[in-house]
Amino acid sequence: MAEEVYKILLVGESGVGKSAILLRFADDMFSEGFVTTVGIDFKNKDVKVDGKLITLQLWDSAGQERFKTIVKSYFRSADAVILAYDVTDEKSFKRVEYWISSIERGSPEGCVKVIVGNKCDLKLRRVVTSDRGEACAGSHSCPYFETSAKTGVGVNKVFMYIAEKLSRGARKPAE
Ligand code: GDP
Ligand code: MG
Repeated sequence: MAEEVYKILLVGESGVGKSAILLRFADDMFSEGFVTTVGIDFKNKDVKVDGKLITLQLWDSAGQERFKTIVKSYFRSADAVILAYDVTDEKSFKRVEYWISSIERGSPEGCVKVIVGNKCDLKLRRVVTSDRGEACAGSHSCPYFETSAKTGVGVNKVFMYIAEKLSRGARKPAE
């Protein structure tokens, strides 16, 4: 294990592709079906930043998104939060505000937040434009990324942005 370990949470509505994004990044794989998260709470993935190896501990919300209120402890130790919605699903985009307020209530000072519009490969089914995604993220002072867990587009960029931000001092590494 690397010297620095950072905890990254994936949150957002059910079905937006949180588990798929995690699987794409950690194992470079994709499955058409729902990715069930049984037994494992997180996956570790090592990345190199400025020549230094760091471990990203990737936490999937594994079904907790179905509950109305996410327990505060889930956010409390997060170094970064990825809030994902599905660009083909207006409802998942409308819920971004709800997720932002949960994150803001529960996450620690200095926690790195990013907003991700996933499934950008589904061009014909897209209903949320990039401009709207960007405007929404901008209004919360978050960077915005578009990803496809299916093709892999944009996925590494999200995690490398977070890794660089954390490793260059956004947060102190976990004990
Ligand atoms: P979660 O509930 O947010 O964890 O969503 P899942 O990762 O289980 O994905 C839900 C469904 O969307 C599955 O059928 C995935 O195969 C599909 N999916 C996830 N990401 C993408 C993507 O980027 N493009 C496409 N076309 N399908 C995706
Ligand atoms: Mg899932």
